[in-house]
Amino acid sequence: MAMTLKHRLKLLGASAFNRLGVPRLVRRGQGLLVLCYHRVVPEAWAAEVLSSPHIVVREETFARQMSLLAAEYAVVSLEDGLEMLARGHLPRRAVALTFDDGWRDTRTIALPILERYALPALVYLTTNFIGTGRLFWQERLTHALRQLQAGAGLRGAPPPLSPPLPPPLPPDLAALWDQANQANRKHREQRHGMLDPHALIRLLKQSAPDAGERLATALLDGLGQLHLPDTTAMANAMLDWDDVRDMQRRGVVFGSHTVDHVLLPGASPEVRAVQLEESRRVLRQALGRDVRALAYPNGDHSLAVRRAALAAGYTSGATLERGFNEESMDCLRVRRINIYEGKTASSKGFSPDLFRFVLTLAR
Ligand SMILES: [Zn+2]
Repeated sequence: MAMTLKHRLKLLGASAFNRLGVPRLVRRGQGLLVLCYHRVVPEAWAAEVLSSPHIVVREETFARQMSLLAAEYAVVSLEDGLEMLARGHLPRRAVALTFDDGWRDTRTIALPILERYALPALVYLTTNFIGTGRLFWQERLTHALRQLQAGAGLRGAPPPLSPPLPPPLPPDLAALWDQANQANRKHREQRHGMLDPHALIRLLKQSAPDAGERLATALLDGLGQLHLPDTTAMANAMLDWDDVRDMQRRGVVFGSHTVDHVLLPGASPEVRAVQLEESRRVLRQALGRDVRALAYPNGDHSLAVRRAALAAGYTSGATLERGFNEESMDCLRVRRINIYEGKTASSKGFSPDLFRFVLTLAR
């Protein structure tokens, strides 16, 4: 029997087991569960949302998730949760809610729902994107690719053999473009020649730190569309400082997500220090209170990054490593589960059982 259960659970992934091979199900309710959200978007925006599906939850789904959490879990702030964990006083089924990046929809869509159930939340801000009208290069790049596809008249046409031609690019970006197209051949054959933006984004994240920004700008420049159309820009906007202050009045706590969303493990020690210290300083000044919580962009960290975070004055660092946070945890290595639409939806839409299952296994 045990083997059968074990075998069945194994199909769900190795992290369903601890090191001794005991199913994590037996640990249910132990440890702090931290959920990571990015964007909560209304149905009406669907066509305008440029972000990866892995960071998007529909408004209706989010409302049902919060209703379930309020009814069945002890939702605590991350700060309180970590403190209670350290003291051994964590309530059973404790969950903390966090939001990365600082999207405007965190205020306009997610916050009213959090308030409906009186749930505390921590929002990690990327300070150079707050109130500047800047958008992440990932969204700008996705927009550029959609425009290239539309311009090439590919929609509805038979699959072409070659991808849409970009405007002339500097040699290093042209090489990346070709590499992504090669790696993405199968997807293109299935999707009428369209380059999968996420494949290109993955590749760019592993390249020079400014490659994504430069490619998005080069493509949009070549298309004569350096600025996104108003409705698209609105649907993909970041918070401004008025939003942030309003949220703070309404009880939201803020943390840092660095200055520019730089992936820290690959950055130089100097850049790393500036990203960590400057974002903390700017937030402290704007919010009038100290900021001690950090979320590593992309969840990426290393020993050197965690040491730099500690040196910059942070007392917690949030990753995207899945699992429960237990008493012996390192607070600069907070485990979190990334929640997005597909994670809690079956073919019939949001599934409460699937959501409970994700929370039970912390994966
Ligand atoms: Zn982020």
